[in-house]
Amino acid sequence: MLLADFIRNGTACLEALYPSPEARGLVLMLCEERLGMRSYTHIIEPRTEIPADHEAELQQDLQRLCLGEPVQYVLGVTEFCGHRFAVGPGVLIPRPETELLVAEGVRSLREMALPQAPQVLDLCTGSGCIAWSVALEIRDARVFGVDISDTALGYARGQFPSVPEPPRFLQADVLDTEQDFPFGPFDLILGNPPYVRESERAQMRRNVLGYEPALALFVPDGDPLRFYRAIARWAQRFLRPGGVGLVEINESLGPETAGVFEAAGFKNVRIQRDFFEKYRFIRFFA
Ligand code: GLN
Repeated sequence: MLLADFIRNGTACLEALYPSPEARGLVLMLCEERLGMRSYTHIIEPRTEIPADHEAELQQDLQRLCLGEPVQYVLGVTEFCGHRFAVGPGVLIPRPETELLVAEGVRSLREMALPQAPQVLDLCTGSGCIAWSVALEIRDARVFGVDISDTALGYARGQFPSVPEPPRFLQADVLDTEQDFPFGPFDLILGNPPYVRESERAQMRRNVLGYEPALALFVPDGDPLRFYRAIARWAQRFLRPGGVGLVEINESLGPETAGVFEAAGFKNVRIQRDFFEKYRFIRFFA
């Protein structure tokens, strides 16, 4: 089959679900990832054929995309902070705005200029994208990631197998705040917990709702800040004096979420915006 035909047909099929440029972008991503082709190969070399041994796989991938499955699950990878992370059903796909949380965290650690190896805790770590990105940036950091989901921890532990001192990933329910946790104290505590209210489901895209783990996304309308109260408690127990906390938040609940950390006694609680100018993070000091 001609590559150009596959791209045209694939785009047409995906236009039922996505705006045209995005539909085309998804098919190109598939071809680049699976065939190692450039996004313009079919234009400058219009006679390019899809290698016969790849055709079945590519058609299968396209079928999954056309059913609405996120491209990151179909390909099994996504990029985050310049690294390739394995992802798949059962683990939240890292979002670009979360890269800002990592950047802030790394900047905070550098500013601390600690004499010893920094200790970092990432709560609700999911794929481990935050924990790993910090660890890959600050090579001597001792990073711990905590999550309740076995599936997520499987992904987190399997990323970058050749790194000599990987983060340690531990299974625990972050909402269980009084449990034994024989680690720390930490210089930096990070977290991107579930924060989407059930009532906000209606505004979310079908491929998020149908495929991504509800456990990682949703909180009850009656108590949308439960994870932040829990994280504040973890920080009371495990953030060393002078340490920094950074959490991603629901854009509609900035002041309320900040209030949780203020009530827990943290200093200089600040709400920060993402690149869409939405409230997205809270920073606090112990
Ligand atoms: N920002 C994510 C979304 O919009 C939600 C991430 C989370 O709940 N922590 O889908």
